[in-house]
Amino acid sequence: KNTPKHILITGGAGFIGSHVVRHFVNSYPHYHIYNLDVLTYAGNLENLKDVENAQNYSFAKGDIVDAGFTNDLFSKAKFDGVIHLAAESHVDRSISDPLSFVRTNVFGTVNLLNASLEAVKENPNFRFYHISTDEVYGTLGETGLFTETTPYSPNSPYSASKASSDHFVRAYGETYGLPFVISNSSNNYGPNHFPEKLIPLFINNIIQKKPLPVYGDGNYTRDWLYVEDHAAAIDLVFHEGRDGETYNIGGFNEWKNIDLTKLLCQLMDKKLNRLEGTSEKLITFVKDRPGHDLRYAIDASKINRELGWKPSVTFEEGLERTIDWYLDNQEWLDHVTSGDYKLYYQKQYQP
Ligand code: NAD
Repeated sequence: KNTPKHILITGGAGFIGSHVVRHFVNSYPHYHIYNLDVLTYAGNLENLKDVENAQNYSFAKGDIVDAGFTNDLFSKAKFDGVIHLAAESHVDRSISDPLSFVRTNVFGTVNLLNASLEAVKENPNFRFYHISTDEVYGTLGETGLFTETTPYSPNSPYSASKASSDHFVRAYGETYGLPFVISNSSNNYGPNHFPEKLIPLFINNIIQKKPLPVYGDGNYTRDWLYVEDHAAAIDLVFHEGRDGETYNIGGFNEWKNIDLTKLLCQLMDKKLNRLEGTSEKLITFVKDRPGHDLRYAIDASKINRELGWKPSVTFEEGLERTIDWYLDNQEWLDHVTSGDYKLYYQKQYQP
């Protein structure tokens, strides 16, 4: 087991990345945590206000595709490990602009892998950890679960780019001996989630009494994982995961989109003291997303068996915390829903 000191977290200003940064900064005061992020529309340093002055934290603004920048950073900081989350992450955006997903998710990952080959020469305990998605496995029918040996079968430009980056990580392990580990997780939810994704979008729209755009017939099924449980799993995999292995991370928590939407409506009616059934009236079925995967569900028994991880909050607790966070952080919402995002939102959801 290695005892790393200088850890690079990429994409640390994003949704999951900010929780991972906070978790590592607070849990490991003797490490130094570097957050590398270019701050796209999805990156927001407001997510990290509570740790920005910590002694063991530094932020570097830069692009993971820029080899000059990353090589310089690697040679200065002498990293013991990289936890790589920086990515373009939204499926709808990947349909309208696939190349930007190839650029960041594939070129960016390979660029970091190249820098890591230099790091491992100086430090054999170096480890590259790629954070990936269950969407690389494609879609399931009504039954069955994704395991670590399910063949890759990505259906969207987003999942194709993540599958590609997973393959490059594995290939660098096989070809150049780079120590690596990969985890593929299900849909995350929780505080700081950009309101283009289902749960925060709908919470925001319910607050504002705007329509809730449900794709197709609403029968798409996803497994939901509370983001802080994911951060705890990432900590375990980074420290204890076996070299060259993949770990699936899921919430054992499958929901059809329409049922999840109705649950959110009920919880929000209570929170906002609205008459029962008020928010459900906002549900609007919209034209399906092309190539939409019917169902994702994860078998997370390997990480449970090998590393002892399991989700710590129930869905009800996680949703309650999430809703409370959005209600208490209207200013955060106002900031992220201005500017570019507004234009994008209008393009996607205007009836
Ligand atoms: P996000 O979109 O909220 O954050 C991505 C971050 O990466 C942003 O801060 C952005 O500024 C940064 N970034 C983008 N391009 C960059 C570049 N070229 N250089 C440097 N930084 C760049 O994404 P998220 O939902 O937090 O997802 C994080 C990671 O986890 C991604 O790799 C994603 O594929 C994976 N993942 C996400 C989920 C989910 O449910 N959100 C599930 C499984 C896996």
